[in-house]
Amino acid sequence: MPARATLAAALTLVLAATPAAAQVTAIRAGRLIDPATGTAATNQIILVEGETITAIGSNVPIPAGADVIDLSRLSVLPGLVDTHTHQAMTYKEVPENNVYYLTYILDSTPLRAIQAASNTLQLLDSGFTVIRDVGNNALYADVALRMAIEQGWMPGPTIIPSGPMIGSTGGQFWPTPEMYKQHDIMYPEYIDANSPEEIVRAVRENLLFGAKTIKLCIDCKPWGYSVDDIKLAISEAAKGGAKVEGHCQTAEGVQRAIDAGIWAIAHAAATPEQHAEMAEKGIFLNSTDTPFTPYRGSEAAFKSTVAKLRDAWEKKVRITFSTDFDYWNDRMKKADGEWMSRGDLEINFLLTWKAAGIPAPDILKAMTITGFEEADVIKDGRGPIEVGNYADLIAVAGDPLTDIDALRDVQFVMKDGLVFKQNGVMTPAKGFHPGPVKGWRRR
Ligand SMILES: [Zn+2]
Repeated sequence: MPARATLAAALTLVLAATPAAAQVTAIRAGRLIDPATGTAATNQIILVEGETITAIGSNVPIPAGADVIDLSRLSVLPGLVDTHTHQAMTYKEVPENNVYYLTYILDSTPLRAIQAASNTLQLLDSGFTVIRDVGNNALYADVALRMAIEQGWMPGPTIIPSGPMIGSTGGQFWPTPEMYKQHDIMYPEYIDANSPEEIVRAVRENLLFGAKTIKLCIDCKPWGYSVDDIKLAISEAAKGGAKVEGHCQTAEGVQRAIDAGIWAIAHAAATPEQHAEMAEKGIFLNSTDTPFTPYRGSEAAFKSTVAKLRDAWEKKVRITFSTDFDYWNDRMKKADGEWMSRGDLEINFLLTWKAAGIPAPDILKAMTITGFEEADVIKDGRGPIEVGNYADLIAVAGDPLTDIDALRDVQFVMKDGLVFKQNGVMTPAKGFHPGPVKGWRRR
């Protein structure tokens, strides 16, 4: 081929391959908080091009034509993480008397997927940009939620879905013989896996349908999983790039999970000695620390929750912010009579962390960096505010490094480079689309 033709062909290729220039946004951050170190830099400029951060610094030139967002009176920080929640589950006092087995019957998968979409927008409004959604999601409503967000139908946090929990016969419930033997009578939302073959099959089934993490019921039944069972689930999950979280409600179950080398343990059954062992092995703790409020809990349960969280922090366990939030009642109102949003309700778990006397920088680290690590999103360029990462960031008035309650009033939210909330008001219009604009294959 003559040289001129080659050059022309090359130019054509370059022109064809160059996408339309992405919109550049420049954010002026009064204080840019790094939760990993508990420090803040003042007067920083963050450049965002399309979905990602391209520059950060005090002397970064702002390109002509850039959208400038002035957060110079605010503290800018990464988005928050809830490492254990259930977006497609809301059990109620009426009609189901808080029995979530009845929610399975009363609320269909499609209804619960729509509830999840609503909940998740409320969580993004409160600054949560990553959510681990671990079971009780009907038939994969959690995966549908993730796909709708990933494909660009709607804005939302990055969802790490587990699909149905995998457990030995019965899951967390005691189904009747009629239910167990004939699954056409309402059966609880668990995959029964009672042998090595069934465990492998269950893990593969969840991965096939889009789970990004695997949730195991370790000790929901006296015949729960052995160390070898758990190890098998871990190695099978790893083939699909997923980590395993264990629901543990006894110290014996916690020990089997620790001995198997599990990624994360949910709830607060670990003893002080086990906290020390978890810290040594780097196992994450999602202790789901429910506060005592007019709408939930008891003083006695709260005291125990606070003491356990305090002990885990003292032992230097990798603690995360986890709520297990999946309920609603008509006492969830603010002093002015307005409903609390699902985001308000989750942020209110700060009551427990403050009662445990955990310093604000450590709470902030648990709510961000440790959560990103557990959700395993850092390898995908998500989480910390760094050049090359997705532009997920929030801003609050005040300083959450000294007053963690500053997080109760999120003024600004950006997810994947799109502004979702500004001046304290949701402005999500740019995140809604009439089709899968980010690609129909994304899941
Ligand atoms: Zn849970």
